[in-house]
Amino acid sequence: MNITERDQQYIWHPLTQHKVQQEILAVKKTKGVYITDEDNNVYIDAISSWYTSIYGHCNDYILDKVNRQMQQLDQVVFTGFTHQPAVDLAEALIGILPSEQQKIFFNDNGSTATEVGIKMALQYHHNQNHERKTMLAFEEGFHGDTFGAMSVSNLSVYHGAFEDHFLSVKRIPVPNGKNTGEILEQIKSIHKETPLAGFIYEPLVQGAAAMKIHDKNGLQEILAFCKTRDIILVADEVMTGFGKTGKKFASDYLSVQPDVVCMSKALTAGLLPMGATSCSQKIFDAFYDDDLAKGLFHGHTYTANPLSCAAALAGIELLNSEKIQQGIKKITEANLAFEEQIKLHPKVNATRTMGVIFALDLAVDLQRYGKARNKIFNTFLSKGVYLRPLGRTIYIVPPYVIKQEELAEVYKAIVEVLDGL
Ligand SMILES: *Cc1c(COP(=O)(O)O)cnc(C)c1O
Repeated sequence: MNITERDQQYIWHPLTQHKVQQEILAVKKTKGVYITDEDNNVYIDAISSWYTSIYGHCNDYILDKVNRQMQQLDQVVFTGFTHQPAVDLAEALIGILPSEQQKIFFNDNGSTATEVGIKMALQYHHNQNHERKTMLAFEEGFHGDTFGAMSVSNLSVYHGAFEDHFLSVKRIPVPNGKNTGEILEQIKSIHKETPLAGFIYEPLVQGAAAMKIHDKNGLQEILAFCKTRDIILVADEVMTGFGKTGKKFASDYLSVQPDVVCMSKALTAGLLPMGATSCSQKIFDAFYDDDLAKGLFHGHTYTANPLSCAAALAGIELLNSEKIQQGIKKITEANLAFEEQIKLHPKVNATRTMGVIFALDLAVDLQRYGKARNKIFNTFLSKGVYLRPLGRTIYIVPPYVIKQEELAEVYKAIVEVLDGL
């Protein structure tokens, strides 16, 4: 039996209805921008394996740093202990994070990073005896799959079994340039009736909502208003962080800075799992007390795993390098040029791009995970490109190390798929 067949016996895959799932591909090898399957087919990873492997797979620089780290110190408890990889990483993160960030809380993945962000917002008010128990979030937001993260998300139509157990959450539409006044009125009236503890938002680009891009001024006005009411701003930069929008964090484009930033995905350069939640001094101070109960009693066994820290630190060194910054710039320019070329295609309804992120909506209706969507997915694979259409949206988030000719292959595959529709 091959790997794909053996897989079926014992494995339950994420986000998968096994009864209707088509064949699952076995991957044998990854290197740079390439994925090789069990049958030696090679694909360009046009989505950086869900926004993680931004410096290329099995990056030699990162592998070397992690290899050295694992000869020295593998894993220790992070309650009562500390270590250099964690301290180095915290310093490096503070060096690139938006201006008000002062403390780093480590966790395991994107969902727990947002989970902790939500807890910080709720307990910030609880510790000060404020009656604020409701979170504000965007319609069509995505923040992860644990209970808190799932509660503030609003995308899946498949949460029916859990909805009775959700946190208290109020939702507002995404700012589109025309609705800012209405949204501000809405927040005011919500806040009057159910005082808001925090606002969790994916700044400027909502990945899982098919790369929906916000009106920047509208978002700034919403954030500024929340600040005046001490509604804690929790920026979920799990997707947007570490250069994808062209700046290190999407929040860097905005005049209003978050109180809390959630990170994961590219944090560890696609090598190891890790998340982190940073916060401003103001948040930390609200937990700093002689009373133990005012502390943040949250922790994961593998918190600040030294190997993950080493991978993240090496990743940030690369992100800060001239070579990677040039890579981001080149992809950004290529995306803009491709957008100009493709937006008039008769099968294209809309296009949008920001940094290395490019998305287009097909002028045909497709279900999020339907058969027609699967056919398009397979056509891309047959052309040697791995990307995952989201309903009728085709998007790419290429690794920053992709060469111009490899990027051209991705664009060519997109054009061919459009021509074939
Ligand atoms: C992927 C993602 C998450 C969840 O991260 P996991 O590591 O998959 O739990 C949360 N927020 C955003 C914006 C994401 O893109």
